[in-house]
Amino acid sequence: MQKNHFDYIIAGNGLAGLQLALAFAEDDFFKVKKIALIDKSPKIENDKTWCFWEKGSSKWDKLVFKSWKKGKFISGKKNIGLSLPPYSYKMIRSFDFYSFAKQKIKQNSNFTFILDEIDSVEEEENISLHGKENSYSCKHLFDSRIPKDFFKPNNSISIQQHFKGWMIETEKPYFDASEFTMMDYRLQWKDSTSFTYVLPISSTKAFIEFTFFTPFLVEDEVYHIMLKKYISEILKIKNFSITETEKGIIPMTTFPFENYNTKKITKIGTAGGWVKASTGYSFKATEKKVGQLIENLKEFRSPTENLYDKKFQYYDKIFLSVLARENQKGKWIFEQFYSKNSPQEIFLYLDEETEIPQDLRIMGSLFSIAFIKAFLKNLFK
Ligand SMILES: Cc1cc2nc3c(=O)[nH]c(=O)nc-3n(C[C@H](O)[C@H](O)[C@H](O)COP(=O)(O)OP(=O)(O)OC[C@H]3O[C@@H](n4cnc5c(N)ncnc54)[C@H](O)[C@@H]3O)c2cc1C
Repeated sequence: MQKNHFDYIIAGNGLAGLQLALAFAEDDFFKVKKIALIDKSPKIENDKTWCFWEKGSSKWDKLVFKSWKKGKFISGKKNIGLSLPPYSYKMIRSFDFYSFAKQKIKQNSNFTFILDEIDSVEEEENISLHGKENSYSCKHLFDSRIPKDFFKPNNSISIQQHFKGWMIETEKPYFDASEFTMMDYRLQWKDSTSFTYVLPISSTKAFIEFTFFTPFLVEDEVYHIMLKKYISEILKIKNFSITETEKGIIPMTTFPFENYNTKKITKIGTAGGWVKASTGYSFKATEKKVGQLIENLKEFRSPTENLYDKKFQYYDKIFLSVLARENQKGKWIFEQFYSKNSPQEIFLYLDEETEIPQDLRIMGSLFSIAFIKAFLKNLFK
């Protein structure tokens, strides 16, 4: 049993688990801690393309596959150029992130990687974890497993960000690799919030993703129809080959993940509510939350102190409430958002770094009956 006892166990070696482990490995304070990372997957595939914005350079730059200083938002009615500096929009392939993180963490003898699927967890004096292969125990668990209650009927407002993307290559040059497309609404699936996202890698190579923010999911065939239509009718590309595909679902939800934290279990990543409910982004939010969590542990505070911001949770709730009830409004909402605010103001707001006067200005740009109704409806909930 002693062999399988640790100070900390991190269940899940995904984005949150590995960012947290990297932060432990980089800080001498945690050198004395025996830490295990348990995952059911060896994390050797390229299953996600992570994009995020940030100012200037950062510790992630060595992993960046491609970055852009210019973007665009297209709605048909409006074609808005987005000049990002001092921000850039950066893309990291998950395979590169997993390989880098694992190699870095393995240089520290206090870490153990374990391939196992955790079936159950019990919280007593220590935390006991029961896996398919073995049992383990620890003093504190950092847990990226999504609470089962999330999948049961509940009172939260939830929509799904779901998408399929193709990395395509063309013989002739078609793309301007210096500018990515945040959202292109020229093609939509019925009356839903759906758009195309384009990340050009070179003049002959681009990652094209058809994305929905909707209460419903669709058959695979729908993504294929929309991707083919976008490539042939909007981009006017006749011949291309698909070299990679990506498919995913990100919950956009007001589900109270933070209620699942206990004294000895800290939920992390999606399971901890670290994915921004109104956008589905979490790469940079994870970095921020990990920084706060590390500071809390070093100051012997509760790991989750200051991890959640009620103000921004409320703003996200208003937004989700509108999209869940009036899904056809997405195009109009984002058109207002991108035409009336600068990318710098938008990024600051989405990074939850704005004060109330800036928040009000941003929200003013979305001023409409739907938002007023959602604002009042959620005020006292
Ligand atoms: C395809 C895709 C693309 C995305 N793109 C972006 C983006 O561009 N920018 C952005 O900011 N966010 C993006 N996101 C959202 C978010 O950043 C990711 O979902 C992110 O991976 C969440 O981190 P996580 O650690 O919570 O989950 P994951 O990275 O999914 O990691 C969870 C880990 O837990 C393991 N696990 C689960 N259950 C068990 C168990 N019982 N026992 C053992 N191991 C277990 C899994 O194998 C997995 O490795 C994307 C999400 C998806 C799905």
